[in-house]
Amino acid sequence: MSTANTMRVDLRSDTVTQPTPAMRAAMLDAPLGDDVFAGDPSVNALQEKIAGLLGFEAALFMPTGTQSNLCAILAHCQRGDEYLVGQFAHCYRWEGGGAAVLGSVQPQPLNHQDDGTLLLADIEAAIKPDDAHFARTRLLALENTLGGKLLPFDYVQQATQLARAKGLSRHLDGARLFNAAVAQAAQQGGERGADIFLEARRIAQCFDSVSVCFSKGLGAPVGSALCGSRAFLARAHRIRKMAGGGMRQSGLLAAAASYALDHHVLRLAGDHALAQRLAQRLRGLNGLTVETPQSNIVFVDLVDEARARAGELIPFLAARGILATGLYRLRFVTHLDVDAAGIDHTVAVMREFLAA
Ligand SMILES: *Cc1c(COP(=O)(O)O)cnc(C)c1O
Repeated sequence: MSTANTMRVDLRSDTVTQPTPAMRAAMLDAPLGDDVFAGDPSVNALQEKIAGLLGFEAALFMPTGTQSNLCAILAHCQRGDEYLVGQFAHCYRWEGGGAAVLGSVQPQPLNHQDDGTLLLADIEAAIKPDDAHFARTRLLALENTLGGKLLPFDYVQQATQLARAKGLSRHLDGARLFNAAVAQAAQQGGERGADIFLEARRIAQCFDSVSVCFSKGLGAPVGSALCGSRAFLARAHRIRKMAGGGMRQSGLLAAAASYALDHHVLRLAGDHALAQRLAQRLRGLNGLTVETPQSNIVFVDLVDEARARAGELIPFLAARGILATGLYRLRFVTHLDVDAAGIDHTVAVMREFLAA
């Protein structure tokens, strides 16, 4: 057992995971070919697997979630079109403005409600009339989970039905779709694997396209998949090529993603439980306001005197082996390489900081 002094707990993101020995073995065993010739059997198998799981005709393996969202937006929209999107959505705020820079597609950002949703009335009001003054509103892009929050399923249905009725396409940035599915299954009291894949599919089927990350909670080193109809993916494939995302023996990476789908989906419930454990134990400490996590991300606000010392906290944690991000609002993300001992060490160090 590692002592508190040598323990390292990296809570910055669920992207920091190392491929497990079994995942590395699956990568080394993968049959490979040149995917630009559609000749990599491991890529083809992954694409069929994720499309089948989520109920789509086809899927395309992508090097990153950012490229996947970019290809999706550009495949749904033309130059001079716009997409409706939340202020805090990754594909608006955190992707360098790619859709606008590279596609001349304008975002129309909307404010979120506290639960992460966009008001249906705001969506409806943002859809522009067919008039030469306006960009053409073509797409609604939602994200689930968003900042660790599960969008209520009724809401996802209503928002996507509204978009459809108004003639918009619907894209889901489901980088953490399987975290959403685990949280949604848990709300219904379901813990069996079938329920989780069923929930993932129910969410996904509200959309015309879905992007899923393998390199977040699923623990693969690289990659996302964009799912949709064959016609949509033919357009996305051309854009991926333009964006420099045509990969060769990428089956090495696809095999890791396949392994993650087979072995790392159901274990996400354990990450959510560790996030709950962290939140519950931090809640007892003075100087903190702790949001109840819905998945694997815990937000903690520093208040009172602790707030005045906010700048000291991240270095204090780092000196004791704990990595996290934020300043007045800290973000802790649980994943494959975090265990209960690491969470308890984090709570102990936070207590020490707040008592000082
Ligand atoms: C991480 C993330 C992405 C982008 O994935 P990269 O592989 O880092 O480009 C997109 N959307 C959401 C919601 C994410 O969390």
